[in-house]
Parts: sequence; C-alpha cells; structure tokens
Amino acid sequence: MNPHEYTQVNDRTFLFSGHELPEDERELIRLRRDFHRHPESAWTEYRTTAVILRELRAAGIPVLYGPSLHEPSCMYGLPRPEAAEEAFRRAAGELGGDGEILPMRGGFTGCMAIIEGGLPGPVKILRVDIDCNEVAESRSAEHRPFREGFSSVHEGLTHACGHDGHAAIGVVTAKMIARHRDRLPGTVKILFQPGEEGLRGAASMAAAGVADDVSFLFGGHLGLTLTKPGAVAASAVAILSSTKLDLRFEGKAAHAGMYPQLGRNALGAAAAAVTNMLAIARHGDGASRINIGTLHAGSGRNVIPSSAEMRLETRGETAEINRYMLGEVRRIARAAADMYGCSLTETIMGSADSAESSPALVEHEMALLRQMKEVGEVIREQKFGAGEDVTTLMQVVQDRGGQAAELMFGTPLAAPHHNGSFDFDEAVLLLAAKVFAEIMFSL
Ligand SMILES: [Zn+2]
Repeated sequence: MNPHEYTQVNDRTFLFSGHELPEDERELIRLRRDFHRHPESAWTEYRTTAVILRELRAAGIPVLYGPSLHEPSCMYGLPRPEAAEEAFRRAAGELGGDGEILPMRGGFTGCMAIIEGGLPGPVKILRVDIDCNEVAESRSAEHRPFREGFSSVHEGLTHACGHDGHAAIGVVTAKMIARHRDRLPGTVKILFQPGEEGLRGAASMAAAGVADDVSFLFGGHLGLTLTKPGAVAASAVAILSSTKLDLRFEGKAAHAGMYPQLGRNALGAAAAAVTNMLAIARHGDGASRINIGTLHAGSGRNVIPSSAEMRLETRGETAEINRYMLGEVRRIARAAADMYGCSLTETIMGSADSAESSPALVEHEMALLRQMKEVGEVIREQKFGAGEDVTTLMQVVQDRGGQAAELMFGTPLAAPHHNGSFDFDEAVLLLAAKVFAEIMFSL
C-alpha cells in the first residue's frame, strides 16, 4: 500500500475521539475488574476466554476459538497436566458447566473476533494478551483492588501486568468497531492471545496462521515505562529477544563407594555447564543476558547423580544477539554432557524475538494521535524494557509485506509490573480503546 493513501488523516471525522462514551467506559471497568478477580495463568485462560466469547456473541460478533487457532508443536511451556486439569475444573465451576470450554481443554485457550466492514479495505488485526502472573495479590488496605473488593479469588495468581485491562480493551474495542461496521473499510480481527507471560502463546497462534492474511497488525501495552496519564506512544522500542529453555542431563547411577567408575555424573555435567554458561563471551553489538534460574540434580548422598535439570533463559537486545547467546548455551551444554558421558535433552519453554514497528505505520499513527483530543502527549518511540511475544506476530506480518506496530499507553502505576501490589489508573482503558478503534477506521 502506498503510504500516501493512508497518511491523509487531516480533518477526518472521528467516530470515538472527542465523544464521552460513558457506557463503553463502564463496560471496560466492569470487565477489567471481572478478569482481575478471576486471573488465569498461561494456557489455562478458560474462564477468561469464555467470558470474552459471551460478550462478543451477545454483541453479534463472530468469534473463532479452540484448536484451530493453535499449532500444538509450538505451544511452549504448557503447564503440568494435573495443574491444567485443576484450572479447567475451577473454570467450569465458576462458569456453571464446562460446555463452552470443552473445545479448549488441553490449553487451546484464547479466541479471535472477526468484524467484516461494509467498505472495501485491508485486513487488520489487534492483538491483546489475556493471561495473569503467578504471584500472590496484596491484601493491604492500600491496594485498591483489595480495598474495593475485586482482588484475585485464585490463590497465588494475580493480574499484575495489566493484561486484565488489555482483555477488556479488546472486547470493548470490538464492540465499538462493530457498532459502525457499515463504515469500516476491510476486516478487523481482534486476537485474544493466551500465554504472553514466559513468551509462550504467540508462536502457536502465528504457526496456526491467524495473521497470514493481515496487512496491518497492532499490539499495545499499558504502563511499563510510560506512567504519564494521557500519553500514547506510537511505537515501543527495545523489546528484548529472549528464549526460555529447560535442559536435562541424563547420566547413570552407581554406588559412590564401590563402583563410581560405572556411574555417569549428571550433576557434574550440569555444574560444568553452569559455570561456563556464565562465562560466555559477551557480544559486542549490544546488551545480552543469561540466567540459570534453577538446577536440581541427584537423588542421595552416596549415589552417583544420574540426572540433572536446569531452567534458564537468554536475552538479547536484538534477535541476532539472543541467537548468539542461545547458540553458545547449546554448545556448552553439549560439551559438558559429552565430558561427563551424559546425554542431553532440550525443551524450549518460550521464545520471542525483538521486532521493530513499521516506520510508515508509525508515521500514520502519529498524524492520527495528534488529532485526538484525549491524547495528552504523543510520543514517537518509547522504550519497552521487557520481552513481549507480540513480536512473533509482528514478524509474520512484516515478513509477508505487511506493517505492524506495538503501542504503549501511559498510566500511573501503584507498584511495578509483576508485583502483588500492581494496579493502574482505569482511565487508560477508554483511551486505548478509542485509539485502537480510530486506527482501524483510518486504514
Ligand atoms: Zn505484560
């Protein structure tokens, strides 16, 4: 598409910007608080998805869900089957039956709304994430969700990254767009993605082809480094590339006193791997990280340890730097296993590369945002400062000649992300919904 065809946004009539929309705002807050009360972690967003389905269907919006939206070989970091089943039963109990969520059993959570416009135009997608964090929520009177009675009823789980807000934004944006579908050019898809935490869900949906026919993709995050109310960033930069990896060394048990020569020491292999991984020569082109977060090995004091398991992650400022770190990790792990006569198995638990917003699309957003009354400050680039697997979907779209952007929405925060006292200013919800809705009508 020629950029000149869509950068002409001057003097456009806004359908949402400049309007009060009190009902949409009430609905955003109602949904956000409902999701907040019932947080669900990666691949167990059964109730969350069911609520989204009910809302969209009640508004007459077609929605897809279940295994057709996923590629099982790319469903990274699935929970243990017992934990997944427990979450499924919990959701069924809360929903008053498992009829709606049966097709999702086994982790096939999330859904995709499809709104066909009355005018010719491109296919556009808004991706929002819907999972929570595995952290306990604060029970302090200072913490507004607790004080006002909408804190988590699921022990050890909290929406501490704002994805409760993102899910609400997705639902209400879909409804706002659908109300004016006669004037909508092309088709809008709203993708409710599970498992963003740990970078687990996007690869599965990308591999299932959800974004294959898309010309424009948008993602967004509230808060993070943008804490000024009313500020909107057209593009997030410095989204770190990261890979989450489990390694298992398998050796051979033996009597440590009588027959040590018959054993193969998996603990030794893992320990050698750890110290050498921490000593990987750093890449000259930018920041890199490695963390070996857990290491469990052996079975008893007088037994040559026959197995060792470690959980680790690599990060890089660019995809190339992360690939370099991962390549070194693998080389060292293989060599350490070899040195101790052990075998090695690797499981990828999560992965996403960094991606950059498309410059022409950012330009278009800037022009639009500058005309929206409720946007207090328009920022071209805002540092993201974390990983985010929307990049996997952005790359799919960009590789196929489309354009993509990750936006950021400013809000004061009560505590940092992933902290049990996290909370944000709900005024950001309507702002984000208006921005996304206007963007969809402008392309
Ligand atoms: Zn997040």
